[in-house]
Amino acid sequence: MARQTYSGPLPTVGDTRAQGITALSVTCESPNCRWSSYSAFDALRLPDDMVFVEIPRHRRFVCSRCGGRRVGVMPDWRQHRARGDGRAAGA
Ligand SMILES: [Zn+2]
Repeated sequence: MARQTYSGPLPTVGDTRAQGITALSVTCESPNCRWSSYSAFDALRLPDDMVFVEIPRHRRFVCSRCGGRRVGVMPDWRQHRARGDGRAAGA
């Protein structure tokens, strides 16, 4: 039995910051809700060496809409686009 699912180093808050992103989105995993909100790393006092996907283990997020505690975190890619080539997201 494999004890570890991932074999490589997971990106940290610092890695994400290095890409110009200073906030994360918190999305409720309740299928009937899917509420998203955004929080700045600084507001959450996240250290740079914290593994990004483990943030919910260290900071307690509660969905402000349904009260659910099952949330997922993602880098706030809106900032990445804004600092990138300047084009609006098409698609
Ligand atoms: Zn919710």
